[in-house]
This record gives sequence, structure tokens and C-alpha cells, in this order.
Amino acid sequence: MCGVFGIHGHAEAANLTYLGLHALQHRGQESAGIVTSDGTRLYAHRQMGLVQEAIDEEVLARLPGAAAIGHVRYSTAGGSYLRNAQPFAVEFGGGSMAIAHNGNLTNTEELRERLERNGSIFQSTADTELVMHLVARSTAREVEDRLVEALAQVRGAYSLVLLTESKLVAVRDPHGVRPLCLGRMGDAWVVASEPTAFDLIDAQFERDLDPGELIVVDDRGLRSFRPFASVAPRPCLFEYVYFARPDSTLAGRGVYDARIALGRALAREQPAPADVVVPVPDSGTPAAIGYAEESGIPFSLALVRSHYVGRTFIEPQQAIRHFGVKLKLAPVRSALTGRRVVVVDDSIVRGTTSRKIVKMIRAAGAKEVHVRISSPPTRWPCYYGIDTPTRAELIASNHSVEEIGKYVTADSIAYLSLEGLQTATQLPTEACMACWTGEYPIAFTPPTAEKQLRLVGL
Ligand code: 5GP
Ligand code: SF4
Ligand code: MG
Repeated sequence: MCGVFGIHGHAEAANLTYLGLHALQHRGQESAGIVTSDGTRLYAHRQMGLVQEAIDEEVLARLPGAAAIGHVRYSTAGGSYLRNAQPFAVEFGGGSMAIAHNGNLTNTEELRERLERNGSIFQSTADTELVMHLVARSTAREVEDRLVEALAQVRGAYSLVLLTESKLVAVRDPHGVRPLCLGRMGDAWVVASEPTAFDLIDAQFERDLDPGELIVVDDRGLRSFRPFASVAPRPCLFEYVYFARPDSTLAGRGVYDARIALGRALAREQPAPADVVVPVPDSGTPAAIGYAEESGIPFSLALVRSHYVGRTFIEPQQAIRHFGVKLKLAPVRSALTGRRVVVVDDSIVRGTTSRKIVKMIRAAGAKEVHVRISSPPTRWPCYYGIDTPTRAELIASNHSVEEIGKYVTADSIAYLSLEGLQTATQLPTEACMACWTGEYPIAFTPPTAEKQLRLVGL
């Protein structure tokens, strides 16, 4: 999971990309990068860490030009290496290009093996590099035609931005799994994973890119193409549940409003005998507000979240096992002692965090702890760009709801139904819901652990 940004036609392209990446930081905290073009060549910077750690004034001063793309990368279970940081930038027969990608391709192994048999070498584990190879191999003249030829060979989810010396290209996969939006800033065009990036830089939101739409921006202006066979759109519903920022509007639906509606639906479906509604911040907060509104049970911010924890490199020892969660969340005793608490969160993945939170609330004096989750049980891995673990690690794939309740030590536990999820989110089209249903809209080859780890240690 990642965030992408692109701008063309603004003298402060690098600075604006830096700001845009800040507004997309929630989509990836592992690394950040910017590539700019001054019309004759590309300038690149990529670094590990949060945007403000990875990029500073001095870096921005070395990124000239009126066009830029940027990327924030999501922290994955495996390889957290600089060589996987994006945007990637390369020289090839057609000139220079840089690509930043959000999503996940689902037939990379076949393609990669084919390319490797023909002598290609790869430096990273990322799908993006594969797309670059395919672009470089195309014999078409214009880079957008090369990109279309490349993308015609891949399957999967992608919202990607490509920059050459003279052009910004942005494209959304035919199913439109990941979001991608178009905005305007005077004469400049901007694209971003979420419109929250436009709000920060005072750009005007124009529209979402359509699934399968490709746009080219250069000195001649903006041109839009639909180069792929059209298929039924399947935007990711989990963006509304967890991933997108609440102040974003995607496909015309406000993410905050959707989360409130999820919480309200959850309260109707799964009432709890409680004195107080407590969110697991930040992701569970809007759903908890909806739950409190609908149920009439008072809302309480009885878990305080520290906003200053980044990634921690201290290995918790046995004596301080709850260290990780405690670093991030602290209970407000006076708001919990003697109370029956309904704690609302957006999802349970492995169940380990939820278990610690329930124990923390109980240790702070709560009489009862009822867990309510504003989406159905996550039973299936995502192959379209969200870094969910394998089936074996997803607690709901091999445990009943009752067993999950026992594991997290809750007095009761309940999830929102699939119907409730669909009704509350009110999307204009059918969405991908594969992580709850196992019905995958795009074919995939499950990645093998061995192949994924092949480059570790290089
Ligand atoms: P668990 O109890 O499964 O260990 O953790 C549940 C928490 O993980 C929830 O608060 C939920 O917001 C969060 N979560 C859900 N999906 C993801 C994800 O893809 N990445 C991360 N970092 N957290 C997630
Ligand atoms: Fe989104 Fe789940 Fe589909 Fe992945 S599987 S794209 S997280 S709805
Ligand atoms: Mg959360």
C-alpha cells in the first residue's frame, strides 16, 4: 500500500510534491521519494523514513523543474530496503523515466521469469521495476504508448504515475482498485492517491480518474485516453473502512461519512450492554462516533494515542511484552473504572493488538469489555496492494467469531455484516470485498515465500 503524487506545470513542483506526500503519509511510512524534471533531465531523491525524515530543504533545493512525481511506501512485513523505495528512475533507449506505483501486480512471477530468461536483471523486489522493463522493451515511439503496451501484459491493481523529461503520465487500472484523483492549480495539473493532498496545497479537486483511464500532461495540456478493454470496476472497499484518510472523498463518497455510517450500522446490528463507547484511535474513531450516536451510549476518548511514535527498533523483552501497544495507546483510568465498555475498531487482522487493548482496558478497571468491529471478519489476504498477512496468520480465517472473542479476552465480540458494510458505504459501483468474501475480482498467482525472499541480503 502506498501513496502517489504527480504535478506538471508549476515552478515549485518539488515543494508541492513534498507537501502532497505529507498529506498521503498515512498510506506509507517506510520510505519517501521525489523525482523532478526540468525539461531536459530527471533529478531523483529517495530515502527511508517518514516524509519529513527522508526529505529536507537541502534535498528539495537539489530537485529543480516544473514537473515532479512522489511516492510514500507502505511498511511491509518483509523487505524494508532503500532499493525498494520509489519513485524508480532509469535511463533507457527512449530517454529517462521515473515511475511511482500504488497497488500490486498479480502476474509478476511469470513476467519476471520470462524477462530473466531473456537476460533482464532486477535490482528490487517491486513490481514497478517490472513495468519499467516492459516499457523499455516496447518499440512504440511515445512513452504513453509504451506504457500501455507494458500494462497490457500485467494483471493486478495499479494507480501509477510516470515522469519523463517532458511528460507526466498517470494511469489507473481497469478495475480501479486503488484510488487516483485529478486536481488543478492554476495552469498546473496535479494527481494524487487521495484528494486530501490537493486540500493541503490549495489545489482544486477536479475528479477521480476513471478505472482504466490514462492521462498525459505535457506542454500541450492534458489528454485523456481509455486504452484498455473495459471491465466492471471494483474499487477497494477497505479504503473506506481503514486505509484512506477520513477527510478524503473517493468516488463521490466521503470516507469520514462512510465510517460514521459503518458505526451506526454496527450499533443497529450488534448492540452492546455498555455504559461507554471507546474507539481504538485513530482508525476506529469515526465508527465509534457513529456507534455512540446510534446507540445513545456516551462516547469517550478513554484510549489516548501518542502521535509521536514512529517505527521502534527496540525489541520488546518478555518483561515488557506490551511495550509496543503501550507506546502507542494509554488508557484513561477515570473514564474506564467500574464501567461496561464497548470498544470499537475498524478491523482485526491477527488479533494480537486487539487482545492487548482489551487487557489494557480491563486492567484500567473496566467491569466488562465488549468488542465491536465495523467490518466483517478479515478472512482472506489482499493481493491488490494491502499488506495483509497470509491466511494462516489472519485470525478470522481459521477461528470462529466466538473463538476470536475468547482469544482477545472480550466479554462479547461482534462484527458488522457484509450487507451492513455494503449498505453503509453506499458506493456507486460494486466494490472489491475479497478480504471478507474470498471472491477475488482479478486473477492472481499467489506469491511464494521463496520467490519473495530471493533478494534478501543483497
Ligand atoms: P490486530 O488486533 O489484528 O493485531 O490489529 C488490529 C488493528 O490493526 C486495527 O486497529 C486496525 O485498524 C489495524 N489494521 C488493519 N489493517 C491494517 C493494515 O493493513 N496495516 C496496519 N498497520 N494496521 C492495520
Ligand atoms: Fe481492498 Fe480487501 Fe479487495 Fe484488497 S482484497 S483490494 S483490501 S477490498
Ligand atoms: Mg487501528
